[in-house]
Amino acid sequence: MEKSIPNLNSTKKEQIRTMFFTLKTLALFFSMIPVFQNISKKFNINFDYNGYSVYTMEITLMFICIVMFILMFIFNRNENNRFLQILEMSIFVVVFITAIYISGANESYYKFIFLFIIISYTIEYGMKTGLAISSISTGVIATMDLVLGDNSGVNKYFEDDLALFVMFFLVTWTLGFYVKLEQSHIQDLTEYANIDGLTGAYNHRYFYELIGDVFEDSMKNNNQLSLLMIDIDYFKKYNDMYGHAKGDDLLKAISSLLHNNIRTSDSLFRYGGDEFCIILPGTNKEDASLIANKLREEAYNYNSFGQEYLPDGKLTISIGVSTLNTKSENCNNFIENADMALYRAKFLRRNKVEVYSSVFDQVVETDNMNPDLLENMKSLKALISVINSRDTYTFKHVDRVFHYCNIMADYLELSIEDKRLLLFGAYLHDLGKINVSKETLIADNNLTKEQWEELKKHPQDGADIVKQIEGFENVVPIVLQHHEKYDGTGYPNGLSGENICYLARILTVVDSYDAMTNQRTYQKTKTFEEAFEEIERCKGTHFDPIIAEKFIECIKSI
Ligand code: GH3
Ligand code: MG
Repeated sequence: MEKSIPNLNSTKKEQIRTMFFTLKTLALFFSMIPVFQNISKKFNINFDYNGYSVYTMEITLMFICIVMFILMFIFNRNENNRFLQILEMSIFVVVFITAIYISGANESYYKFIFLFIIISYTIEYGMKTGLAISSISTGVIATMDLVLGDNSGVNKYFEDDLALFVMFFLVTWTLGFYVKLEQSHIQDLTEYANIDGLTGAYNHRYFYELIGDVFEDSMKNNNQLSLLMIDIDYFKKYNDMYGHAKGDDLLKAISSLLHNNIRTSDSLFRYGGDEFCIILPGTNKEDASLIANKLREEAYNYNSFGQEYLPDGKLTISIGVSTLNTKSENCNNFIENADMALYRAKFLRRNKVEVYSSVFDQVVETDNMNPDLLENMKSLKALISVINSRDTYTFKHVDRVFHYCNIMADYLELSIEDKRLLLFGAYLHDLGKINVSKETLIADNNLTKEQWEELKKHPQDGADIVKQIEGFENVVPIVLQHHEKYDGTGYPNGLSGENICYLARILTVVDSYDAMTNQRTYQKTKTFEEAFEEIERCKGTHFDPIIAEKFIECIKSI
């Protein structure tokens, strides 16, 4: 598994940056003290002091300090630019050398100011940088002492400064050592905080931390990126049969099986319960699909305790694959796509790998759309995106309904044209929800009478939009009638029996089945079996009895 660098959150980073900024500003301030002292000395004691060159140096130094102060703001914002870091250190060294030179060179009392940058750079960049700065400082001061001092006997200044040199290196060594210890401690703690205690994979929290960074990075640098979402099939049953302790053992075993079959650049996470995620940097759709299939086979061939009593007599996993493309609007969509693909894999009877493709792409693929139709479809897609942004339920619902209709169309052996119309109808059936307020769409209590009235307008509104688009005339009745009931009690027009178009009757069953089996705001979720019973119960009232029968057969057969 890829080890990550401890990720300090941005507020902490900002605080640390502010601390170093203050320290360096103080260093600049201290380097100004000898300058001001010297200026006042000159003006008070001897106005026509002939040290013109020293005077120029002071003005220059003050100028450099002001520029430096401004530059530090810039450096502060570019913390990872190595060139700017070295430039900043070099300017500091020059400023300090000048300040010490002005204040008496070898006789100066300000040689200690080097300590400011020794301390701050050792903490900021570590022992090596600290030692380099200490060596430079020692070299500069020793040179001044030896070149400018009296070397006829023992050089008094050099002798005095020996203690200062020792202090430079001692401070660097102790601070550097402490910083190193602290960093490895933080690294250990971060690792600990990022790891799931049971399986040893990275945890859910860290998944969200890392995926955000990797996603952004891949988008920025145009790199490939794929995500696998993995769920153990029938794990609840396994737990029920053998108990939680055995379930835990299986989770650990699957985690290490996955871990042993991925590359070092990939990262494995326990996303929750029996779900795992794998981030595959630099990986395209085809390779991600190969990796996913290999993992699925490895799990299938794994001889797990008690697997013979699982529904397929084998322990299996299902995998959803999502790959970054220019259409992945944001990181959440990217994750949701993997989730959606996993849902399809589960739906198609598990032990499957499903690669995500958007409903829109599938709609477009249903036939060779002429360019005008494709353009019209794109404008409808924009409307659907607006609905999705307000209500993710509808987005996922449309995806699933499209999927069921695809399977149903084949099961009923519809003509190519009818299948195409049914799929367009499935994609566009909730378009009218564009006019429904967000409050009604996401209302978590029972809908009020007014909200129901508002919601009930969506088939008519959807049909009105689709009507205006050339090439979609035959889709209009499907959208308009998908809430009509077989016994005539539906809306908007109370049509009954075969007065409701055949494709709309199919869509009604599919739409209702998905609403029953997935969490809606205004009704409790049913299991697949309960949903079949409900469809059976409503045969001839809500649903066309033959279509209802066929639908149950179809779903049970896959
Ligand atoms: P599906 O094939 O559709 O995935 O069905 P499933 O039975 O695997 O059901 P699902 O994935 O929805 O449920 C996951 C189960 O995992 C629910 C819970 O009992 C079990 N579980 C979650 N966390 C743990 C855990 O830490 N240890 C154990 N032993 N079981 C867990
Ligand atoms: Mg499961």
